[in-house]
Amino acid sequence: MKKRTVVTGGAGFLGSHLCARLLEQECQVLCVDNYFTGTRHNIEPLLGEPAFEVMRHDVTFPLYVEVDEIYNLACPASPIHYQHDPVQTTKTSVIGAINMLGLAKRLHARILQASTSEVYGDPDVHPQTEEYRGHVNLAGPRGCYDEGKRCAETLFYDYKRQHRLSIRVARIFNTYGPNMHPQDGRVVSSFITQALKNEPITIYGSGSQTRSFCYVDDLVDGLMRLMNVEGELDGPINLGNPCETTIKELAELVISLVGSRSRLEFRALPQDDPRQRCPDITRAEQLLHWSAKVPLEEGLSRTIRYFDRLLSSPNEAKKL
Ligand code: NAD
Ligand code: UDP
Ligand code: UDP
Repeated sequence: MKKRTVVTGGAGFLGSHLCARLLEQECQVLCVDNYFTGTRHNIEPLLGEPAFEVMRHDVTFPLYVEVDEIYNLACPASPIHYQHDPVQTTKTSVIGAINMLGLAKRLHARILQASTSEVYGDPDVHPQTEEYRGHVNLAGPRGCYDEGKRCAETLFYDYKRQHRLSIRVARIFNTYGPNMHPQDGRVVSSFITQALKNEPITIYGSGSQTRSFCYVDDLVDGLMRLMNVEGELDGPINLGNPCETTIKELAELVISLVGSRSRLEFRALPQDDPRQRCPDITRAEQLLHWSAKVPLEEGLSRTIRYFDRLLSSPNEAKKL
């Protein structure tokens, strides 16, 4: 019998890669998505697979299906998307988590939560370990995402303690790669599309803020290891690439890899934008024997090829 896996948010950037990898591992995959930010284009190559099924569904409503494990990824992830309807963002994280935990409880299925480095907010501990409790502005424009994800984590720990669920919590740091939405406003997709069109590269603030970028294949490998590792793993695990770079350095690297004529254009820094971010991945190394392998230049080059194909083919871009 094949393992039956549900991936919520399966038509999104990370979800679509995860679905593809699970199919390679001989799982039967049910992709659940309401297409808020995800697209059919992302999962089109999988639609012919007999073991792949898609369901249009919003996780803020109950879901009754029969599966063996659950990856809960449904939630808009880019600031412009999650700030578009902040109330819905919190509902998706919190009510979505309750419904998926209820599903896991009924089925005695293991459930993994896609949490985020945003639970650390604008961190004053660097790099961030899982013990760090964070520095989130609950009243600011990022609060709906950060606090929604924090509450979802609390629900996971409480379902574990109260109902003996088998849970996994991944705190995912900035991840990039093919299938990111070209208009999601995230820094990698924005810089690459701007560079390919020779348009100005929009740097928010001075560009001295840092992020640590993980290529999607590495991240998905980390998620699957976390789901499958033996034994009980109660606490969260940071997943990310600790190679830290400033946003200005990223802009310059993208320009040089694309061979672009774009210039840098400096704009206002959004409110509460974290100044620095870098994962401490000691726990992932020890417990999952995992660390990111793909260097930034190589991952960016693969992502540039993806966006180049997408932008040069109007038919492809139209499907998004
Ligand atoms: P994404 O926006 O591409 O994917 C999210 C998916 O969830 C989309 O397909 C969207 O349509 C779907 N969705 C949104 N609300 C839904 C709802 N109410 N019901 C059903 N489906 C819904 O984002 P992503 O980058 O693939 O992120 C996936 C998950 O990983 C998210 O939970 C995000 O918070 C988390 N994460 C991502 C990153 C990253 O750098 N990519 C970092 C930290 C955490
Ligand atoms: N739920 C679901 N699918 C299931 C089982 C439960 O979507 O297979 C939802 C259900 O709507 C409920 C939520 O998960 O509101 C939490 O379930 P739980 O059993 O923890 O709570 P209760 O049903 O007692 O409120
Ligand atoms: N950023 C930028 N220009 C852009 C988009 C983003 O300078 O066009 C900056 C943004 O202010 C932040 C960093 O890049 O400091 C990462 O932004 P992103 O939205 O990708 O991720 P997050 O802030 O959620 O980590």
